[in-house]
Amino acid sequence: MNNFQDLTFLRESLSLARRGMGWTNPNPMVGVILVKDGQVIGKGYHKKAGLAHAEIEALASCKESPEGSTLYSNLEPCSHFGRMSPCIDEIIKAKIARVVCSTLDPNPKVHGNGAGKLRKAGIDVSVGTLGDEARLLNEAFFIFHEKNRPFIALKFAASLDGKIATKTGDSKWITNKRARQFARKLRAEYQAILVGISTIMCDNPHLGVRDKTKKDTLRIILDPKLRIPFESQVLRDDNVLLVTTFNASKKKIKFLQHKGTPILVFKNHEIPLKDLLVYLKDQEIISILIEGGGRTLGKFVDEELVDKVYAFYAPIIIGGEEGISVIGGSGAKYIKDAVRLKNVTFKKFDENMLIIGYPAMS
Ligand SMILES: [Zn+2]
Repeated sequence: MNNFQDLTFLRESLSLARRGMGWTNPNPMVGVILVKDGQVIGKGYHKKAGLAHAEIEALASCKESPEGSTLYSNLEPCSHFGRMSPCIDEIIKAKIARVVCSTLDPNPKVHGNGAGKLRKAGIDVSVGTLGDEARLLNEAFFIFHEKNRPFIALKFAASLDGKIATKTGDSKWITNKRARQFARKLRAEYQAILVGISTIMCDNPHLGVRDKTKKDTLRIILDPKLRIPFESQVLRDDNVLLVTTFNASKKKIKFLQHKGTPILVFKNHEIPLKDLLVYLKDQEIISILIEGGGRTLGKFVDEELVDKVYAFYAPIIIGGEEGISVIGGSGAKYIKDAVRLKNVTFKKFDENMLIIGYPAMS
C-alpha cells in the first residue's frame, strides 16, 4: 500500500466532489479517481441528483480497461437501488482490484454494506483516510442521516453589541458589501432558506441565490397567522413553502392554494418545529439555512436545533436598550447554559468579521 499515493488521490477526489456543490442534494457530493500503475485512467463526480453517480462517470471516462485499477472516493460506493442501480455492481463487473474511500456512507441503507459486498467479491477495501475532511464536505448529508432531520445552520449579521436593527427598525446595512455577497453565496450551498414572517414584512426580500448558474433554493417562511402580503417578492417564484397554523384565515389559505402557492398548515397555535423538520426530512430536504429574524433564530436555539452558526459582525455600536437583539427566544439562564461554539474558524471581509462554529450541543 502506498500511503502517499492514497492521500494524493483522495485529496483529488475531494476537490472533484466539491464541483457538485449545491446541485447534488439530497445526494452527497462524490468524486472518484481511477488509478492504474500510478497513472490516473479515469475520473468523475456526481454532477446533479438524478444524473449518474461519480463511480459510473469515472468508469465511463476510462481511456483503458479499468481491470486491476484502484478506485479512490470520498464516500463508500452505494449498494442499494435508488434512482440508479448500485455502483458496487459496476465496480465488481469492471474487475477493479482495490477501493479506497474516506468514509462509510451514513445512509443506513448503505453504511458498511457497500464495503462489505466489495470485500466479499474479493476486492481490497480500505476506509478512513481523510475521513474528517470528507465528512466536513458532506456535513449536511451526514447529519441528515445520523439525526434523521435536515442539517440546520443559523446565519445572522449584527453590530458589536449584538443588534440587528436600531430602535426605529433601521437595519440597512450593518455589514459591508463583501460580507453580504459572501452571505448570499452561502445560500447556494443549502437546499432551503428559512425566515420568519417578520423578515418578509420588514425587508420584503426575494431570498434567491441571484446566480443564474446555481439552481434556486427552496424558500421556507414561518407565518403562523399567515400575514404574508400577496405582493411579497418571495412569492414571485414557485420554489417556496409557507408554513402556518390553525390561526390563519381559511379564506387566505384557499386563495393562496388556488394561486398554486404550497402551504403547510399545522393544527396547532404555534408552528411545531420538530414536526416541521419531520415533514422536510420526508421531502428529502437535507439542509436549511435560517436567516432570521431574531425570534425565529431564538426558537431554533431554544429547542437546541442548531448544527452550525455563521455570525457576521461589523465594528459598529448601536447602543441603547431598545434596539433589536440578534437572537430572541427565552435564552440561557446561566452562562454555563449558553450555546458554546466548537471548531471555530474566522473569516475577514475588510473590517467585518465572520465567525463560523458548531454548537457543542450538536
Ligand atoms: Zn452509487
